Amino acid sequence: MHGSRDRELGMCRAITRRDFLNGVALAAGASVLPFHPFAALAAEADPENSPNYYPPALTGLRGSHPGAFEAAHSLRDGAFWEEAGKPIETAEAYDLVVVGGGISGLAAAHFFRQAAGPKARVLIIENHDDFGGHAKRNEFQASHPLLGYGGTFSIESPEPYSAVAKGLIEELGIDVPSYPKYVSKDLYRSFNLQPMIFFDKETSGADRLVVDPQPLISSETGDRWSPGPEDWEKFMAQAPLTDLAKRDLQRLFRDHKDYLPSLSSDQKKARLARMSYVKFLSDLIQVERQIIQLYQAIPQPIFGLGIDAISAQDAWGLGYPGFQGMNLEPAPGRGMNRDAIPNQEAEKYFFHFPDGNASIARLLVRQLIPEAVPGASANDVVLARANYAKLDQEASPVRIRLNSTAVRVKHRGDPAVAKELEIAYARRGKVYTVRAAHCIMACWHVVIPYICQELPAQQKDALSSAAKVPLLYTNVAIRNWTSFQKLGVSSVYAPGGYHAAMTLDLPVSIGGYECPKKPDEPILIHMMKTPCKPGLPARDQHRMGRFELFTTTFETMERNIRDQLARTLGPGGFDPARDITAITVNRWPHGYAYEYNSLWDDFWLNGGETPCEVARKPFARIAIANADAGAYAYTDCAIDQAWRAVGEITKG
Ligand SMILES: Cc1cc2nc3c(=O)[nH]c(=O)nc-3n(C[C@H](O)[C@H](O)[C@H](O)COP(=O)(O)OP(=O)(O)OC[C@H]3O[C@@H](n4cnc5c(N)ncnc54)[C@H](O)[C@@H]3O)c2cc1C
Repeated sequence: MHGSRDRELGMCRAITRRDFLNGVALAAGASVLPFHPFAALAAEADPENSPNYYPPALTGLRGSHPGAFEAAHSLRDGAFWEEAGKPIETAEAYDLVVVGGGISGLAAAHFFRQAAGPKARVLIIENHDDFGGHAKRNEFQASHPLLGYGGTFSIESPEPYSAVAKGLIEELGIDVPSYPKYVSKDLYRSFNLQPMIFFDKETSGADRLVVDPQPLISSETGDRWSPGPEDWEKFMAQAPLTDLAKRDLQRLFRDHKDYLPSLSSDQKKARLARMSYVKFLSDLIQVERQIIQLYQAIPQPIFGLGIDAISAQDAWGLGYPGFQGMNLEPAPGRGMNRDAIPNQEAEKYFFHFPDGNASIARLLVRQLIPEAVPGASANDVVLARANYAKLDQEASPVRIRLNSTAVRVKHRGDPAVAKELEIAYARRGKVYTVRAAHCIMACWHVVIPYICQELPAQQKDALSSAAKVPLLYTNVAIRNWTSFQKLGVSSVYAPGGYHAAMTLDLPVSIGGYECPKKPDEPILIHMMKTPCKPGLPARDQHRMGRFELFTTTFETMERNIRDQLARTLGPGGFDPARDITAITVNRWPHGYAYEYNSLWDDFWLNGGETPCEVARKPFARIAIANADAGAYAYTDCAIDQAWRAVGEITKG
């Protein structure tokens, strides 16, 4: 049943989105053991072997999709083993089992084979229906194929890539310095499109799209936009802000005032590390509340938090305004790993594939199981169609078992002397066991204490503290982008919106893939939401946001997406009922690795062993990888931690 607003929004239109999920949603309540989201394939023992099995082309609710997490949640709730039948022994034995098929797990398998030789037998167990973890590929069919990233956007990091991480990128054939030749960096500028801010009527009394005079949120359209005085003038004329707020905004950007004049640079930094950016703005600069509302969401794409929960020191490191006259010494900061001086070597090391770092995952799978991802270069991987039936073949030294959740990893006998581990995993309602000489846990750290009961209590506590940052990465396929052209907008920051940011897709053409270059061509809009709860401590914000993501239906998300696009782009002629052709919401309740924060994590300023150092200690035949092991939400961390974990099990 749809009301008139729903009809206007096109909620009843047949597009590629939630339809296939309905059957699954019904099945979800029926069993705590995992069911398969490919309802049509449910009768088959191994749906991955079907020629129709192709997860990147699925739309609707992706990311942590229904079917991926139920076994782990039941394990957490203590119900799993009561409901599970007796495990079935497979008689399979491996040199290494890797839990988690993200970049860390795939890289671990790769490094292990380099150390142990190509005949080493490796099994990778992954609970999702696709490999890559957060490095997720979304495909769409339009008049020509559209590729999108459902998670990891690009090769980039605030810190320079380590020799190991760089070495792997090169070994995969990715020529990072060649990136400029693939990106149409001035495409949107050539149509006079620029970043804008959407003021919503709930906060500001009227919906209004206004030029952003100083974009602070990363827009990811590829354009380097340098606003001029005329943009400030336009903003001042059009923004629904009070005169006082406008005056404060000018002060914030233009004043060169030292707000802590009696302190040295080090003392100021120590003070700023303990003060939120909101407090800095409200207490020291004393700006109007409207300015705080305006900038509340700017750090969300980086930290999954607003300015209430990041330190003023980190805000300085990120180049936010207000620090011009503070005379702070540029030096590596000790906030959320942010360097207060942008590291040029790190900044230059950037590469975006149309599917983001899913291309890295696919290249790693090609190294491990060549017949699964055909082709020979880092460019041709872009259009290569992965053959999922080849991932888990008995004859192959490396196997990737999707739709399988590791539920128990234990040594066979006393861990001090055991020669083997037994790994149990749940797959399609049954539990199976395999044996292995070693196991690398490359999965999310919060699940490890439930799986590896043998670990010391202190290590389990440290692992549990790594609860991740929740996010939505949404891709919306639209018929054309003429509304963007009419409005002169390339990206939108929406501080009060359901999604806080939306951008036209970064235009990259590579390996035969051509990005849309004309406004009358279909394109993807990328939207980002972090469900944080301003005012609470960071971890509580994440916990509540995670709950929100798990309990919001796809229908609600879709309605919010359509409504937001209609209100933002409607004045440019956008009609959601007509123009939206597909929606994929990548839901990541367990998204970015938690990064330490000087406001909430005392140890981060006080020194000493950090929780991730305790969490990643090897235990007998078990080593621990994943980006959580470095408390750093970047691809290079996932690779570096894989390297360390492999070193721990192969040394000696
Ligand atoms: C939305 C998003 C955008 C990002 N953008 C960037 C970016 O632009 N650049 C960048 O460098 N980094 C980015 N990151 C961070 C980067 O993606 C990660 O640091 C990196 O990909 C993590 O890889 P990983 O293998 O450590 O973890 P993951 O990718 O999370 O992989 C771990 C895998 O283990 C699986 N798993 C968990 N429990 C079990 C179990 N019991 N049994 C089996 N499998 C299990 C998980 O489902 C998951 O697939 C982003 C992250 C997110 C979430």
